[in-house]
Amino acid sequence: MKTLDRFQRAHLRVALDDIKPITFDDQNRIKTAFVSGSRAKTYQVIVRRNAGITTECLLDTGAGNKNCKGSSSAVCYHALAVLLYSAKNLELEASICQRKVDAELLQRIHGEIYKVTSIHAPNNPLWLVVNDPGGEKKRKDKGESSTDYTAIA
Ligand SMILES: [Zn+2]
Repeated sequence: MKTLDRFQRAHLRVALDDIKPITFDDQNRIKTAFVSGSRAKTYQVIVRRNAGITTECLLDTGAGNKNCKGSSSAVCYHALAVLLYSAKNLELEASICQRKVDAELLQRIHGEIYKVTSIHAPNNPLWLVVNDPGGEKKRKDKGESSTDYTAIA
């Protein structure tokens, strides 16, 4: 199974500790966030969710924004960290995979897979798997019966 390599994971651990959400969508998912990067740099990550997820990452230069270098050819680790943080914030389990087939192996019942691309690198996607470990319980609490599924089958 190929998820992220060690170098990428090390960066993600750093970034996860340094995320300040700014705005959320109507499902409480992060839309924009500040990420503290290396050497006291600050990045602003913008997440657009439509058919998949498109990310944009801007470095605050102190005299305006410029595109994050890492986002020019792939989804940068700042953006990945924001996506993982957003899921964690909602008590969901999330993983990033380089191949869709690996994401499918991690996907559980009611889990979702999202194609993630940088706005500058639409042809170099990563795959975000989001599973909801409390999902079945929450659905029951809301009064939705699991017999709905057997009725469809
Ligand atoms: Zn970035």
